[in-house]
Amino acid sequence: MAYDFDLFVIGGGSAGVRCARISAGHGARVGIAEERFWGGTCVNVGCVPKKIMVNAAEYGMWAEDAAAFGWSVTTEGHDWAKLAQARDAEVARLSSIYDKLLQGAGATIFNARATLVDAHTIQVGDQRVTAERIVIATGGQAVRPDIQGAEIGLISDDLFTLPELPKRVVVVGGGYIALEFACILKGLGAEVDVMYRAALPLRGFDEDIRQALVEAMTAQGIRLNANAAPTSLARVDGQVIVTAADNMMREADAVFFCTGRKPYTAKLGLEAAGVAVDKDGAIIVDDDHRTSQPHIYAIGDVIDRVNLTPMATAVGHALADTLFGNKPRRASYRNVPTAVFTSPPIGTVGLSEAEAAAEGPVDIYVTRFTPMRHTISRRQGRRTLMKLIVCQRTDKVLGAHMIGEDAAEIMQGIGIAVVMGATKADFDRTIGIHPTAAEEFVTLRTRTREAGVKAAAE
Ligand code: NDP
Repeated sequence: MAYDFDLFVIGGGSAGVRCARISAGHGARVGIAEERFWGGTCVNVGCVPKKIMVNAAEYGMWAEDAAAFGWSVTTEGHDWAKLAQARDAEVARLSSIYDKLLQGAGATIFNARATLVDAHTIQVGDQRVTAERIVIATGGQAVRPDIQGAEIGLISDDLFTLPELPKRVVVVGGGYIALEFACILKGLGAEVDVMYRAALPLRGFDEDIRQALVEAMTAQGIRLNANAAPTSLARVDGQVIVTAADNMMREADAVFFCTGRKPYTAKLGLEAAGVAVDKDGAIIVDDDHRTSQPHIYAIGDVIDRVNLTPMATAVGHALADTLFGNKPRRASYRNVPTAVFTSPPIGTVGLSEAEAAAEGPVDIYVTRFTPMRHTISRRQGRRTLMKLIVCQRTDKVLGAHMIGEDAAEIMQGIGIAVVMGATKADFDRTIGIHPTAAEEFVTLRTRTREAGVKAAAE
């Protein structure tokens, strides 16, 4: 049977656009549909506008610190509308690039919602098309917790349409988005409370980093409320009243729910096409990203594995090469470097101490220091922490973690070494760049402690 397309991609975010563009470049006849905005969450309501706001928030701090270096700087406060305009212009520019890239590669673009009619048929806007293969890359959506008054709370998308800075904010959640939002809003001048249900934020990250982040955020005046999950929200006289267990109450102008995201699979026609999902709505795939229908694939946040833009693009690219480029390959989900753009930022790659210690004995190297910039500025809460986790048996560096200025930038390079399987001896024979914070990663000579010895004995 002749199909209209060799490949139809549903969703124009990081994963879908990359897969469509590379497949078209390999000569496939590709259609791609996007119902909301090209570039998806990352470009429009995620990484890109968020990072612009992180930069904006930190400029205030740098302006204050300049005095210690001899500058006389006076600021007249922050202009939210001006920032919003600059941010939105950049987002629009990037979003249009995605569109152009696809057109340049020869893909057929549909600015419409697409749903599956059956295993090879897609309803896209008012058209019906067929495809030999289909890739589902519809991403995820922010979720509100199931509590009374939840509809009063905002979700992460809403940060980018707020007309002004709310003066008092409660951020609910202890993950990437909650902590980044808290630092942005505090840096731009809001009073911020974070409420999270665990004892420490950033579940899954290395414990030393989590502790150091709590200290850093507390030092800049963000109120961190551990073991606190809101039970209800109510609007009273224009304020939002947030109630949590133990009679805890906060008054705020805005409440952000940063309590996770769920795969965007509702009403997509998955059942009609015979595509299975798990209990959270994530599409079930094998190691080649095949769904329960062997010619239908799913990539990106819709499979809820490693929900990061570079992972999504890597997987989209690998799938296109496999299907149409005669280069079968898989992108690895191991040792994915990542950053949390808190202030200061976190960069990390590989295993946490707890994960590594569960597998066997490891040597732990930790250093903590005030970076040169802040020995002069005397700003509190900006100490840097760097940590290496080294396998005692192989000498391989299993994990590298950092919180401090430029952590995200530094960790990209360390990530290459860890992915290549570098040993501690390789780190040690690398000459440092002086004077930098990064050089500490290659001058850690004294073991702080060992861990996982018990795990190995068992
Ligand atoms: P996360 O899964 O990171 O965090 C969700 C947070 O909400 C956790 O602290 C979780 O607590 C808490 N939570 C969940 N349900 C409830 C509830 N009912 N009541 C109270 N608290 C709740 O999700 P995010 O939304 O922050 O981020 C989504 C994904 O986006 C991330 O996993 C990441 O992959 C990606 N991302 C990456 C960024 C980057 O690379 N810098 C930036 C932003 C997002 P608990 O831990 O106890 O379950």
